[in-house]
Amino acid sequence: MAAPVYKRVLLKVSGEALMGDRPFGIDPERIARIADEIAEVHGLGVEVASVLGGGNIIRGVTAAASGIERVAADHMGMLATVINGLAMQDALEKRRVATRLISAIEMREICEPFIRRRAMRHLEKKRVILFVGGTGNPYFTTDSAAALRANEIHADILLKATKVDGVYTSDPKLHKDARMLPSLSYQQALEENLRVMDAAAISLCRDNRLPIKVFNLLVPGNIRRAVCGEEIGSLVAETAFATAAKEVS
Ligand code: UDP
Repeated sequence: MAAPVYKRVLLKVSGEALMGDRPFGIDPERIARIADEIAEVHGLGVEVASVLGGGNIIRGVTAAASGIERVAADHMGMLATVINGLAMQDALEKRRVATRLISAIEMREICEPFIRRRAMRHLEKKRVILFVGGTGNPYFTTDSAAALRANEIHADILLKATKVDGVYTSDPKLHKDARMLPSLSYQQALEENLRVMDAAAISLCRDNRLPIKVFNLLVPGNIRRAVCGEEIGSLVAETAFATAAKEVS
């Protein structure tokens, strides 16, 4: 079996990924499978940090559209990530993986506050760390939190687990001629507004030359494949390694 090519990874898991086929909330089977996969790569000796989203419970923009003040709505969104983090922590600990839940918003009874050096120490001690609470600030996303934390902990790569195979030239659901790009530059992602992550998150990765791998979490085994450097999904880096785009199958 292939060996890991990264020593330390930051895995971004969106709230939506935890929903499974449900319209809302957490699907225990889905969270169990993701936990299995995280436990697997952790077992390969990879240091794993994860940032959890909250969109399966509440999104600030949507809540604000229904009349809640935006900052309050974003606070609600950040709290949603804590709920997801607690579920993921439970699933991982059931698999005997030592974890630490670390929140950008202090909640001492249930998670640790974010202290960078302490987080790094947990990784060195082979604990999986789960970052919740986003950046701790409204008007940001958990993608930005993932870019921020990945840089802070000196991760080798940001693994963005999504529901699609990678980055497409346009929305494959709307455009038949959409093509998947196995490789693209940060600049291309920003200029062409390709839906990798929000612009703030991509810029932060670009400025610090942190590669981003976008891949499909719905395919079992893909976290291991991404960690082992297999050619799945799309790699966003300083320069694209190939201009060829894959046909959508
Ligand atoms: N959020 C925020 N600041 C952050 C991260 C998240 O205010 O730094 C809020 C925001 O309202 C967002 C919600 O938390 O809509 C859930 O996060 P996100 O939408 O990024 O989750 P995902 O799409 O990954 O499930």
